[in-house]
Amino acid sequence: MSRKCVYSFGDGQADGDAGMKPLLGGKGANLAEMSRIGLPVPAGFTITTEVSTYFQSNDRQYPPELKSQVEEALAKVEATMGAKFGDSENPLLFSCRSGARESMPGMMDTVLNIGLNETVVSALIRQSGNEHFALDSYRRLIQMYGDVVLGLKPEKKTDPDHFEDILDKARDKAGVEHEKDLSADALRNIVTQFKAVLREHTKVDFPDDPMQQLWGCIGAVFGSWMNDRAMVYRRQYGIPHDWGTATNVQAMVFGNLGDDCATGVGLTRNCSDGTPGFCGDYLINAQGEDVVAGTRTPKRVEQTLAQDAPEAHAQLDNIGKTLEQHYKDVQDIEFTVQRGKVWMLQTRNAKRTGFAAVRIAVDLVNEGLIDAKTALEKRRVPADDLNQLLQPIFDPAAKSAAEAENRLLAKGINAGPGAATGRIVFHASDAEEQYNADNNIQLILVRSETSPEDLRGMKVAKGILTAFGGASSHAALVSRQMGKTCVCGCSALNIDYRAGTVTVGDTVLKEGDWISVDGFSGEVFHGRIDTSDSGVMEVLTGKKSAEDSETCQRFAQLMSWADEYRTLAVRANTESHDAEVSVQLGAEGVGLCRTEHMFFDHLDEIREMIFATEKADREKALGKLLNFQRDDFTHLLKTMGDRPVTIRLLDPPLHEFLSEHHLHEDPKLAGKLAATFGVTEDDVKRRVEELAESNPMLGHRGCRLGIVYPEITAMQARAILEAACGLKQEGISCNPEIMIPLAGFKTEFDNQAGIVRETAARVFEEQGVEVDFLVGTMIEVPRAALTAGEIAETAEFFSFGTNDLTQTALGMSRDDYKGFIGYYMENDIVPADPFQTVDQTGVGRLMKLGVDDGRATRSDLKIGICGEHGGDPKSVYFCHEVGLNYVSCSPRRIPIARLAAAQAAVES
Ligand code: PEP
Ligand code: MG
Repeated sequence: MSRKCVYSFGDGQADGDAGMKPLLGGKGANLAEMSRIGLPVPAGFTITTEVSTYFQSNDRQYPPELKSQVEEALAKVEATMGAKFGDSENPLLFSCRSGARESMPGMMDTVLNIGLNETVVSALIRQSGNEHFALDSYRRLIQMYGDVVLGLKPEKKTDPDHFEDILDKARDKAGVEHEKDLSADALRNIVTQFKAVLREHTKVDFPDDPMQQLWGCIGAVFGSWMNDRAMVYRRQYGIPHDWGTATNVQAMVFGNLGDDCATGVGLTRNCSDGTPGFCGDYLINAQGEDVVAGTRTPKRVEQTLAQDAPEAHAQLDNIGKTLEQHYKDVQDIEFTVQRGKVWMLQTRNAKRTGFAAVRIAVDLVNEGLIDAKTALEKRRVPADDLNQLLQPIFDPAAKSAAEAENRLLAKGINAGPGAATGRIVFHASDAEEQYNADNNIQLILVRSETSPEDLRGMKVAKGILTAFGGASSHAALVSRQMGKTCVCGCSALNIDYRAGTVTVGDTVLKEGDWISVDGFSGEVFHGRIDTSDSGVMEVLTGKKSAEDSETCQRFAQLMSWADEYRTLAVRANTESHDAEVSVQLGAEGVGLCRTEHMFFDHLDEIREMIFATEKADREKALGKLLNFQRDDFTHLLKTMGDRPVTIRLLDPPLHEFLSEHHLHEDPKLAGKLAATFGVTEDDVKRRVEELAESNPMLGHRGCRLGIVYPEITAMQARAILEAACGLKQEGISCNPEIMIPLAGFKTEFDNQAGIVRETAARVFEEQGVEVDFLVGTMIEVPRAALTAGEIAETAEFFSFGTNDLTQTALGMSRDDYKGFIGYYMENDIVPADPFQTVDQTGVGRLMKLGVDDGRATRSDLKIGICGEHGGDPKSVYFCHEVGLNYVSCSPRRIPIARLAAAQAAVES
């Protein structure tokens, strides 16, 4: 039996239905569904995505059974519509449109009015009594056929647009603004010129045979699946190239027959803010593409259609309600009004902003259309889109003005969402100084890249902009951590620290000039763009009452449903300063406190420790740090109360606290350190040289530091446990989990755990109280994952450090992958940035092994993730699937992780 390649619809019936999107594409499946539920759909048929796949892999040939099936389906449409394709008395015209499984708006091709030639045009004139309409339809067909089927569509700005040039001249000659005002004679003339231009540039004649036209269009639509912009779009949205598109051939209805006709697009609710009520654009006496083409300004359905065409307005309103009731979601529709009757050409679930997504999901539950579990679905509220509700945004009018004034400078990686505007500052110390002088100053820290000593500057800046570094570079990671807007890897920036300038092309900006960065899009503008605060954030942090904001109430409602359904816990990667905000955002604990971040506030003391050559001197310096750390941990543990708090021992190589770079940045530093520590400047330089490493990320860092300098581990363990004991004495319980970084051998872990446990015994004896605590490890080198079964014999918990695990498993430096990752993604070498979304087949396999082997040894092993991936929805779904207990992420991503965790639970 031959395979079914063609599915018919129309006249209240259909071969397909809405569940057949993989085979019929979204448009085809929904045309079938609308036909089935009795909505007015012009009859037609859908050629399946399987034919597309066959066509792409068989050198643009069709399966042999296709031709007869198309002919049969075409005859059926003729019977339904009571007209004949190519007929000289009562002609039927077709449209031919693409339609993939997921909508790819505007990426593929469409041809309208198929089936016209000189004879058929005459018939159409007789039949419609409207010569202008028939000739205008004919010129549109030749134009679209030339553009789409014969490849005359201009690809680049500089390519000629032969058809538009002819139209321009004709309009100029007639002194009219739009072709709807051209005379029939002018249109006839245009048709003749179009045919000539087509022949001149393609060496073929416009085909008179309607069947030849139709097959040409079908081939072009299938072919458009592989055009460049469709491929780019698929990469961007993770749509597989092998899905293929369906092709829909549908009887034409006309919105351009006269003033009782119209064409339009609409939404069953507002998808910018989610307000209920039909809204959309329409044009009277126009055809399909005119509404989106921007050549005429459309009118608003909700404002004027009721006066312009009351009957059509009432029909549309009803159709909108029927569609929402049926699809249980907001619909995005295309329609045509032909002589007062509304015809449906398309419906699909509407794309919406994060704001609208939350409102619509909650409203649909309140209206009884869906239940809470359904409201949580990924497709309804993409978890990442919650960002839009949490981050400051550019005032939309101000941003449009900046675009109109050509102030867009460059584009980098959108690493930390939000919008920030401020004065350029190049050095962290200057930023801090300016901020201390004026706490309201708005600064953007502009650096080639950032490093840990820039932290104080990053804290006071509104936004961070770097020329180098990718999505898990220091700048990106810390800004997400701090909830700062960040654009990184903006390679067009040419920064000259000495001159105090940043240059992009011809634009030279100086320190103190205004610059604006959009961390949602990666765009960088020169000049100032005003921002507005996220209302939701203000309510969450207690600055505003929830009663004032319906948006916040809906947000809270959605979050409470998410918490009800998710099984993964969500923690924060935070130190003490953001602990409160983390709890406000819903953190159920701390998954990673990076103790070195606390050290950057005490550089003098840590440098003293670095200079100590004798253990006793080192311990003296550590004694000073102990006091600071104890205070910090006390605050953190107290804020988190009973919630678990994972504190990681010192991780970065010591040169991050003192390096050639520091000496270079501050020429007085060597002298200052020499005087403080009673050494010579040469001694300082020698120590700096000793600390330098070629590959510091694989060097003397992580537990390797604590093993060689056990007193550091002992000091940190003491600070944590003294803080916990102190709180217990005050009657406050807490739950510390001490985490050893970068262990790959069980012996490494045991060495460090031994020091922690010995220190604990000593502290408990001194303090006269004991507290419960755990000692566990990060799994961030492949050897740790591969030997997880052994390590779990002594480690009481695991936390996947997927930043380092990705770096070490892929052999790809998290700081140096910028040069090729863009190319890799554009050329489908990798499906996504592995430092943003867990590489499931590689790194994910190591994770799975770590989970399985770890739990085989210790069945109740608590396992989490604290790499940047912990706040990435796709990675969160994966963490749910492999059975982690929690994900931990930057505070601002906590709501996103909570929702993603719920989506994993309801959709797994
Ligand atoms: C990690 O490697 O995933 C991690 C959380 O540690 P860091 O980013 O501090 O190296
Ligand atoms: Mg790490």
